[in-house]
Amino acid sequence: MQLIQFPSPLGPPAVPGKCFGCASSVWRRLDNLRTRIPELLWPDHRAVFGVVAWGEDGIATGIALHAECAPPVGSVAPAVVRAQVPTATTIVRYETAGDRYAAWFASEREGFLRLLAQELGVDPSGLIENWKRDREQLVAAVRV
Ligand SMILES: [Zn+2]
Repeated sequence: MQLIQFPSPLGPPAVPGKCFGCASSVWRRLDNLRTRIPELLWPDHRAVFGVVAWGEDGIATGIALHAECAPPVGSVAPAVVRAQVPTATTIVRYETAGDRYAAWFASEREGFLRLLAQELGVDPSGLIENWKRDREQLVAAVRV
């Protein structure tokens, strides 16, 4: 089996962290005031990640979508995906944010987020509070 990774870094609308349905963010992000580049913090707890079949036996992972923007399993892959990978066909399954990015929600991540907050010059306690709230809601995340 061959694997390819989406989203592509090749520019809009396949920008990392954007929903392939509505093009708004599916990741929590924070602007780095020095570099002006938004840092991806963790995926929205309601995000789902489509696995797309392509070619003979390939799958592409990580088509990020809000649960409410996600077409049913078996749907044709979004046009932007088919434009990049002409042999892409259908969405074969979804992974939830909690499944796919479990490490981003693991308790060990808190230390990293505290360091990141310091580096970005923001109050770590607010950031950690938001992260914990999203973690708690993961179990209740919508399944497509
Ligand atoms: Zn969306």
